[in-house]
Amino acid sequence: MSSKRKIGKSKTSEIDRRSFLKIGGAAAAGGALSAVLGAEILFGAPLPAKYVDKEVDSCCQFCQVRCTTRVQIKDGRVVNVYGNPDNFWTGGAMCPKGKSMVELTYSPHRLLYPLLRQGNQWKRVSYRQALDLVAERILKVKKDFPDNYAHRVAMFAPLWESWESELAARMALHLAGFPDICSPGDACIGSSSTALNLCLGSPISPTTLDEILNTEILVLFGANIAEMYPPYVRWLSLAREKGVKIIYLDPRYTPTSNFCDLQLRPRPGTDGALVLGIIRFLFDKNLINNRIARSHINGFDELNAATDSYTPAKVAEITGLSQKELISLADRLGKSERVIFWLGGAISRYTNSIQTVRAIIALQAITDNLSGSGKGIMNTQGGKPGGGENFSEIYRSPDLASRLSFRKVRYNMERGRVNVLLLNSSYRRYPDANRVREAVSKVDFVVYRGFFMDKEAELAHLIIPGTMVFESEGSQYGAQRQVVWRNKAIARPGETVEDWRFYADLGKKICDGTFPEFNAAEDIYDLFRFESPSWQGLTLERLQNSPTGVTWPFPSSSQSEVKGSLYPDNRFWTPDGKVELRIPALGPIQWTEPKGSPRSTTREVREFPLVFTQGKVVHHWQQTYTGWSSYMAQFSEGNYVQVHPDTVKGLGFKDGDEVYLETKLGQIKATLKITESILPGVVWTPSHTTPTSPFSGNAGDTINTIIPNYWDKVSAQYNGFGCRLIKA
Ligand code: SF4
Repeated sequence: MSSKRKIGKSKTSEIDRRSFLKIGGAAAAGGALSAVLGAEILFGAPLPAKYVDKEVDSCCQFCQVRCTTRVQIKDGRVVNVYGNPDNFWTGGAMCPKGKSMVELTYSPHRLLYPLLRQGNQWKRVSYRQALDLVAERILKVKKDFPDNYAHRVAMFAPLWESWESELAARMALHLAGFPDICSPGDACIGSSSTALNLCLGSPISPTTLDEILNTEILVLFGANIAEMYPPYVRWLSLAREKGVKIIYLDPRYTPTSNFCDLQLRPRPGTDGALVLGIIRFLFDKNLINNRIARSHINGFDELNAATDSYTPAKVAEITGLSQKELISLADRLGKSERVIFWLGGAISRYTNSIQTVRAIIALQAITDNLSGSGKGIMNTQGGKPGGGENFSEIYRSPDLASRLSFRKVRYNMERGRVNVLLLNSSYRRYPDANRVREAVSKVDFVVYRGFFMDKEAELAHLIIPGTMVFESEGSQYGAQRQVVWRNKAIARPGETVEDWRFYADLGKKICDGTFPEFNAAEDIYDLFRFESPSWQGLTLERLQNSPTGVTWPFPSSSQSEVKGSLYPDNRFWTPDGKVELRIPALGPIQWTEPKGSPRSTTREVREFPLVFTQGKVVHHWQQTYTGWSSYMAQFSEGNYVQVHPDTVKGLGFKDGDEVYLETKLGQIKATLKITESILPGVVWTPSHTTPTSPFSGNAGDTINTIIPNYWDKVSAQYNGFGCRLIKA
């Protein structure tokens, strides 16, 4: 069966019904957004002035689209939020997750006061008492273990909060001598940003979204834009109007398929082999300008040697694509002058991910597609601005140095060697979430900073309630290298404090007088800016006056904003300015089968013959937050798994059956959806067990409870291993 499909017009038979209904009349560029979800949902609409006292500029904290919003307030309450129409990147769009914040802000289930566990009961304490208690426990660790306290206090870093909150938290722990900080994104998106940092000198995207209008070919590497980042769909439509060819690589037909010219469906986890095959083809057909490539690449000859065996026949066998498809794609890319690759989150979720992203960087480098207009790589999911010559900028290097922290922290927790855990984000984000839960349960004193009585709260000894996005000011960074300022829109409820304040207060108590005095988020932002050469021009005033945010780097206040290529003159931020493909710790660029794949030969995986894959859906982000929204729950389809008809042929399964999706770690119950949208032999399920009622399902287990522990040097694997289906 050919895995290629031309997509100029949709074929409903090839797309599952839900996706098709969502897509509707997607062909019209102007209707692109409404085609995905409905215009009124995506854009929202301002309420008439008579219902509103004032409007405040804010932004959504969920994903890195970082939609700027306008918050409408009446009698001190948020009555509406809509996308800021002047936002360059979103055009005023947003998605339902951002809109759910109005309901979540006033949820009757919110935690509003610090709570101290006393046996099986919770006792309300004041913020000051809670703060003193945390400081006391941390200082006691230093006193009890004067020679080896460093790894006895650990933190899961804040995720939903402002950059200032994260900075204050990191600063407090580091100045107090505790280096174990687990960055929330490292497990699931760390590989791509790490590969970019190693090869180019910065973890951030080498180009921005507007440049897709200037390219010839845009390749979406598993980037399901329509579902993950709905406000960006209009850019796909605009690009196609300008004649840009969009090629989509994804094993599954998704709503994004209808915005593309061609889709190829490689087997999950084989993108790296595909790219290495393309590189081999370009070498063999002399489609590379060796002189230019050598001038800006370290490791050009080694790359040639490393790709020697990636013949079309071998790559076809690995990927499941035909040799014709592979050669046609390689030839098109080799003969195009401007190509942009857009990396989806899935690219980072295999044990071969860092090598795959290295290969993508190498391909863009040898075709001279890393520098200048209409060229580059977009890494939608990830990375704070930074790196390269600014690598020493404060708080940046600890961030990167802590990449391996999670496994180290888990190891220590399992052995009872962590006395205090500051849990600012969900432990359920990691593979084998039950094992992580068990590890956390062995910590003497767990402080949970969250919004609801989640599973995390069950493990806590002390709960400190968080402030939500409308209740606190601060900066946030987005996928287009933009830094956005959000204003406080309403008063904080109960005994919550600004999101940055807890760690600013804690730092004063545990850092022996070395922690600075901060009285506002602006103080933290300004300290960071003054210490960071590439942020010098990003003044608060400039941020506060921009409806879009301002694109980094911005070293001087006298300069203009520079979108587009981060490396406009083929000079990269590596020590010698060249693309660095030689990374001794990683060896030659190679593709390897994802760990636990059914193609492996061990008995264990032969028992699990199907390939497990997962992804996010529009109406859910994470259980600790959007899982509590009844607005979102009304869109939920519950737990389900998609499989191709051939996968279940002759096995007695029918569409709508209740099944168990089982891996070597366990099973979850789900509804079977039989669809030609997915490749035979592959199973796809939403990343979150989506509750149909937020108050019954939000505390349920995530899919990560059945994700086995497979890691590469940086990230965890969330896809590509073996699974099976059993009738319920
Ligand atoms: S989740 Fe992302 S796309 Fe949706 S409103 Fe928030 S920032 Fe925008």
